[in-house]
Amino acid sequence: MTPTYSLYLHIPFCAHRCAYCDFNTYAGQEGTIPAYVQALCSEIQAVGSSVERSASAVETHPGVERSASAVETRLPVGTIFFGGGTPSLLTPAHYRDIFQAIHRHFDVLPEAEISLEANPGTASPDYLRELREIGFNRISYGVQSANPTELRMLERIHTYSDVVDAVRWSRSAGFNNLNLDLIYGLPEQSLAAWQRTVELIRGLRPEHISAYALTLEHGTPFGRWARKGLLPLPDPDLAAEMYEWLDEYLSHNDYAQYEISNWARSKDESEKMKDETDREFSSLIFHPSSFQCRHNLQYWRNLPYLGLGAGAHGYAGGVRYSNVLRIKTYIERLKTADCSLIAGNWPLSPAAVNHHRNSPREDMDETMMTGLRLTVEGVSAEAFHARFGVELTDIYGEKIDRLVKLNLLEWDAGCLRLTPPGRLLGNQVFMQFIGD
Ligand code: SF4
Repeated sequence: MTPTYSLYLHIPFCAHRCAYCDFNTYAGQEGTIPAYVQALCSEIQAVGSSVERSASAVETHPGVERSASAVETRLPVGTIFFGGGTPSLLTPAHYRDIFQAIHRHFDVLPEAEISLEANPGTASPDYLRELREIGFNRISYGVQSANPTELRMLERIHTYSDVVDAVRWSRSAGFNNLNLDLIYGLPEQSLAAWQRTVELIRGLRPEHISAYALTLEHGTPFGRWARKGLLPLPDPDLAAEMYEWLDEYLSHNDYAQYEISNWARSKDESEKMKDETDREFSSLIFHPSSFQCRHNLQYWRNLPYLGLGAGAHGYAGGVRYSNVLRIKTYIERLKTADCSLIAGNWPLSPAAVNHHRNSPREDMDETMMTGLRLTVEGVSAEAFHARFGVELTDIYGEKIDRLVKLNLLEWDAGCLRLTPPGRLLGNQVFMQFIGD
């Protein structure tokens, strides 16, 4: 059976660099956007057309192998995600070019989830309408806070009223799948201020909410200010309280947590009906009864995705890889791209600078680390056996027993998952599954 792939396309441009951000993104380089789009189309062609010819594209996961005869065809794609950076800085014309390249070289499934990350300050009614026409069906807005002081501290370019407008315009444009991203545990943020942000965001009725604790990263202004004592450090106990309150509040307001940092609303009956047409692949790939992010589920289930663009990461054909970070170098590498050179080297494009072929044990460890992020689904012992041909407990029995005794993991109907206390200590739990 052919696995369904995901495409991640990185758009590394921002109007302004936020003070806490350590993503691979650059302000003031918008002049290179046309050349970047051209390079991205070349990379799509390089990876897509090489897989059409290359037998090395055969996936090796038991249960999801492709037959040798199938390599003649384009890879089926179930989700596409444009992340950044600020993908909403590209024009509809840029996206038309990129979509044309994708459709030429990949088999995009009719019900594919196609998401764009956007800054609420860059949306407009016309822009959103055009995106919908081009084929986007999900938008993820980086809201972070509804509080003006907090937004200024984060150096965001938008206001809360921009968020309200962006959501309204998105609905009018026909988007019925919106995510709003939040950050909690900000310096000097009170529980009451956080609660107000969450209540306002929930009032906008997005289908999906993500919430991440602020981390002070090296090399960012926030990291430097904190080291010099100029920025009060976030209080970890208060951040934990904010997280627990959020989960409690959302669970009473129609949102179910399905991943450590993600909550989704259920679909109503008409929305579920639409999914019936899609059941054949949806039963394996995503949960059709809610607005869980299917693209991110692909990562958390440790299934293959192709990373395209400067600094993008990918995992396909058993290989983890990453592309060159700098925009100019990325464009240069793609200008001289020769598809025939990479035909035997799939999934690496000329932009790849790092790659590593996973051992079966590394694939298992990564499946545990990503799968345990899924708070309801967890890691199924049956699916683990089907994929790797060994029992989950034969590989990790001792570790699992220890973590179950500590009340950090639990078994439920053959699935291993984090307990509520385990969710607060997720990183420590995941570390237990890295190598021996
Ligand atoms: S908009 Fe997003 S990607 Fe850009 S600098 Fe701010 S946090 Fe980073």
